Order: sequence, then structure tokens, then C-alpha cells
Amino acid sequence: MNPFTYQRPDTIAQAVTLLLRGGGDAQADQARPIAGGTNLLDLMKLGIMRPRMLADLNGLPMSGISLRKDGGLSLGALARNAATAYHPEVERRYPLLAAAILAGASPQIRNMASNGGNLLQRTRCTYFYDRATPCNKREPGTGCSAIGGLTKYHAILGVSDACIATHPSDMCVALRALDAVVQVVGPEGERSIAFEDFHRLPGETPQFDTHLAPDEVITRIDLPQADALAGHSSYLKIRERLSYAFALVSVAAALDLGPAGEIRDVRVALGGVAHKPWRVREAEQALIGGAPSATAFEGLAEAVLDGARGQGQNDFKLTMARRAVVRALELAHAGTVRNRSTVEEPA
Ligand code: SF4
Repeated sequence: MNPFTYQRPDTIAQAVTLLLRGGGDAQADQARPIAGGTNLLDLMKLGIMRPRMLADLNGLPMSGISLRKDGGLSLGALARNAATAYHPEVERRYPLLAAAILAGASPQIRNMASNGGNLLQRTRCTYFYDRATPCNKREPGTGCSAIGGLTKYHAILGVSDACIATHPSDMCVALRALDAVVQVVGPEGERSIAFEDFHRLPGETPQFDTHLAPDEVITRIDLPQADALAGHSSYLKIRERLSYAFALVSVAAALDLGPAGEIRDVRVALGGVAHKPWRVREAEQALIGGAPSATAFEGLAEAVLDGARGQGQNDFKLTMARRAVVRALELAHAGTVRNRSTVEEPA
């Protein structure tokens, strides 16, 4: 592991200053914030990330989960994933988010990983970890070993000739469906980033996973009021084993149904298929006002997967993703299955 300095700021402003001053020449060398460390420390041990300085954020007041005046919920960036999933307001009002978080990683990692860190975990593939192979994300300009290589886990949407990796988070798929907003602080003050704009597609610069500047700190994630979706949501994750595995395909689905059963709102976001959680709002709009049906769900699946293409070994995802969208919508339509039977529906 490369040598690095360690700082523990007392305020958010101090953290921003440390990150501003600690910048390295290359992305892998830049100063980094650390909270749970569940991804960053692995990458540092492997020499893939070599920050000159770590700013430990754990002493900052950013671990709360609180109600918002607009009826939504604020998730502190330092709140742990497990604490978020089991928070009564999340379980009761955002069961889609609770289910997605609990589908990810392992209990030990969820106990340690922070919400902000979940958003900042590296978009990656197995070649990214193997320093003996070319990887544009790890070493820009060296090439992509996955293209023409092993592609079972790789993307089918939004790819470029530079990178075909998939975003690994489950939590982020639900946050995309729920229209979350990421609140950050940097040298210029606070700013809000809509969740759909937070992560990037690879393009020609796959070394950048997000639009967060190196000297910005995530302070919280705001969830808009979404009680109408709470009764009909599902998170469907298809993977090769039942725990501690990334998704081959995952779907966060939610419906708001009117008194006659008509669709007033529908959300569908996919994981395991692109460099960021994938959602197509126009496809959802086509279902508004109509009846939930197999035909409607299949039409939405086709529209969401429009333009998808496989790399050969991952061609199965083209069919799997379409079927997963339909199945997730069917499950959502049947009613949310909650993690604990004591949780009541939102008033
Ligand atoms: Fe690297 Fe992306 Fe190619 Fe994987 S898919 S080898 S992360 S450039």
C-alpha cells in the first residue's frame, strides 16, 4: 500500500478544505474522503487507488435520518446502510429503498458502509481489480480488457468503446426510482444534484464515475414524499447466489394506483445493465392513466431496453432484463412485501 496521511476534520468546511488542498495529479492519487471504507480500503490495498491523504468524515454531524418539511425524508451521508434500511420511516414509507439496501452486499458490509459511500463506490468489473490487465477506468488510455473478453456481468445499455462496466449498487437503483436528490458542499458552498445526474455513463472518460468534484462532500440524500408508491413496490434482484453477489439484472419498480386501479404513477429503474442505474421516464409516461396489464408492462420493458445490445457472453441479459421488468411490475402490482410484518402502511 502507498503511504498516505490521515486527517480527521471537525467541520464540513474543514473537510472541504482538506480535499481541496490534498488533490493529487491523477485521479487515483487524489485526496479522498473516507467513512465506512468498505470499497476504498480494498482498492488501496490492491494499489488501484493511491490517495495521498484520507479525510475521515466520521466525526461530522451527518449521520441523522430526519423528516423533511415537504413530507420527504433526509438520509445523512454518514448513516450506515443497515441503519437506513431498518429505520422505521424508511421501512414504512420507502419499502423499495429498504428492500434494495438489504439485497446488497452482506450484513457486515451494510453495518459499516455509509450512504454517501454507497453512492461513491467505484463502478467496476473484475478486470478493474487485476492490475496485470489493461483497463481504461483504472489506467486511462490503456484499453478495455472486457471488450472481447469475459463479459457475463457487463453492460448492455449506455456503453462506450472505452468501458462496459456496470454500476454495482442496489441502493442506488431504488434512489433513482425514487427521484432522490444528492446534497453536497464544496468550496463554492452547497449545491443539489438530481440523482439521475449524479452518476455518469462511461463515454471517453470512464475513470470518472460521478459528477461530484474531488473537493466536494456529500452531506445528505433527500427523498421526495412518495407515500403513494409505498403500497405497490418491489425490488427484484437476479444473481448467481442468494447473498453477497452483484446483480446480473435488478429492477426497482413502484406503482401508484388510483381508485379504479388505474396507473397514476409508475417507476422502473434497472441495475446490472449500465454504468449507472438506468431509467427511461418517457417509457413510464406511456402507462399513466392506463390499466396495469401484462401488455402494458411488456411495452414498458421493451421501451426501457430500447437500444440495448450485448457483448456476446452477456446477451442473456437482453431477455432477462425484459422479463425482470415485467416480473418486478407484477410483484409491485400485487402489493409490497415488507421486511417486517409489524410495519404499517403510510397514513
Ligand atoms: Fe476497465 Fe471498464 Fe473495461 Fe472493466 S469494462 S476493463 S472497468 S474499462
